[in-house]
Amino acid sequence: MEVLVLGAGLAGLAAAFELTKLGHEVRVVESGSEVGGMASSWKVGPFWLDHGPHRFHSRDARLVEHVYEVLDGDVVIRRRQSRIHLRGRYFDYPLKFGNVVQGLPSGLLARAGFDYLVARTKELVRPTEDANFERWVKKRFGDTLYELFFGTYTEKTWGIPCDHISADWAAQRIAQRSLLDTVVKTLRPPKGGAVRSLADEFYYPAHGGIGEFARRYAGKIVDAGGTIELDAPVSSLVVREGRVLGARAADGRELVADHTLCTIPLPRLMSAAESGAPESVRSAADGLDYVAILFVYLEVDTPSVSPDHWIYLPERHLRVHRVSEFKNFSDAAAPGDRTAICCEITCRVGDATWNLDLAGAAQVAELDLVASGLVELGSTRPLDLRRLAHAYPVYEVGYQDRLRPLLSHAKSLDGFTSTGRQGLFRYNNMDHSIAMGRKAARGIHRGRDARAEEVAAGQEYFG
Ligand SMILES: Cc1cc2nc3c(=O)[nH]c(=O)nc-3n(C[C@H](O)[C@H](O)[C@H](O)COP(=O)(O)OP(=O)(O)OC[C@H]3O[C@@H](n4cnc5c(N)ncnc54)[C@H](O)[C@@H]3O)c2cc1C
Repeated sequence: MEVLVLGAGLAGLAAAFELTKLGHEVRVVESGSEVGGMASSWKVGPFWLDHGPHRFHSRDARLVEHVYEVLDGDVVIRRRQSRIHLRGRYFDYPLKFGNVVQGLPSGLLARAGFDYLVARTKELVRPTEDANFERWVKKRFGDTLYELFFGTYTEKTWGIPCDHISADWAAQRIAQRSLLDTVVKTLRPPKGGAVRSLADEFYYPAHGGIGEFARRYAGKIVDAGGTIELDAPVSSLVVREGRVLGARAADGRELVADHTLCTIPLPRLMSAAESGAPESVRSAADGLDYVAILFVYLEVDTPSVSPDHWIYLPERHLRVHRVSEFKNFSDAAAPGDRTAICCEITCRVGDATWNLDLAGAAQVAELDLVASGLVELGSTRPLDLRRLAHAYPVYEVGYQDRLRPLLSHAKSLDGFTSTGRQGLFRYNNMDHSIAMGRKAARGIHRGRDARAEEVAAGQEYFG
């Protein structure tokens, strides 16, 4: 069978890898000039750079085995270290009870404790619905901890008020469901530390940044006879009488295949009039939004800036919301005497932040790093600038009502499967995208619905 794969991110590549193994003819088309999508890496001088922190973790032993197979064993295991910088102090993240107690002024702590008890008692007496992100967190942590650790950061990263964000997002992204869990997990870790240590450790390519995953997949796909076309954006589907015959490239070429696998932003693909979706589906697709991210990379003449893989900067007066240092992921990411820091600033495509140039963005980033005590003024040099337009699908309250018709229309089409983070508009991790791609490939091979969307569908922690 000839399979056309739209997108060379991890979902598309994992699917193409499986499909070539199963003996299919595979053609991957990718709009970017490198493989890997959000999980790509590139080299600037001696530094390997990623789109912010990317750690691979999974509780699925077979998926971990697959990672070793793809990377030919060139893997390092790291113990996650991440913190939040707040009020001039650093707090471990996920939050640790003792650390929060030590780090906060006693008055604030008393208020946080009181609010927490009030919130929990209210919930016991009269349970309320998880109406939105703000309610989800406040009823589990209380108002003060919400403001300190969750509300400001979330509002800053999403650019919309927290009561407009769906509770789904909190359920997926916040590790501890209540402060009580935090206390219990801190005082009495799970037996043998099994669950915690699995979540705390992660896998990373020993060389080449996180993008090495994608490069190794690509090499294996091409060796097995598949093709990967870069700089080849797709603009719409070619559909006749409910059957997808392939896709139309932006340069007008018709790419014909027996089956088309979409791992590119489905709402955007379906919005195109030529894709043939009914008007109701197109307008639902138009209502699904994305947060974009501007990544600013700075070089520093010091061996290391912090021991962390990443640091959250939740305070409103700072524009950067997260800082990461790739050297802490792999020694091969930077030379011994220097380091590179990545600063993320969320934005919307086309706004003032999105349009910053390297010099302007580097200035903003350095000032925030100085305010966080990480570097001294004038000690950094601008290294690189990248943008991701579809970084986070926005889980706005009611987004499911717009997503449902889109996914069911996609499902109704013959010769078509949509999967991965972009193909399902789902805020999932790399392991999920890989698992989805592999599952979709097996489904296409067997000629039936892959049910790939079941991967990462639960209320699980996506950390
Ligand atoms: C800042 C950040 C940090 C993250 N950290 C982690 C982490 O620590 N751990 C983790 O597991 N996950 C992390 N993730 C999530 C992870 O990056 C994604 O889940 C995963 O890479 C998604 O892979 P995908 O193939 O589903 O989507 P994508 O990587 O988005 O791939 C889609 C591909 O389609 C291409 N494309 C788009 N439009 C078109 C078009 N019109 N025509 C052709 N091609 C097109 C894109 O260029 C891209 O290559 C992070 C994500 C971000 C943004």
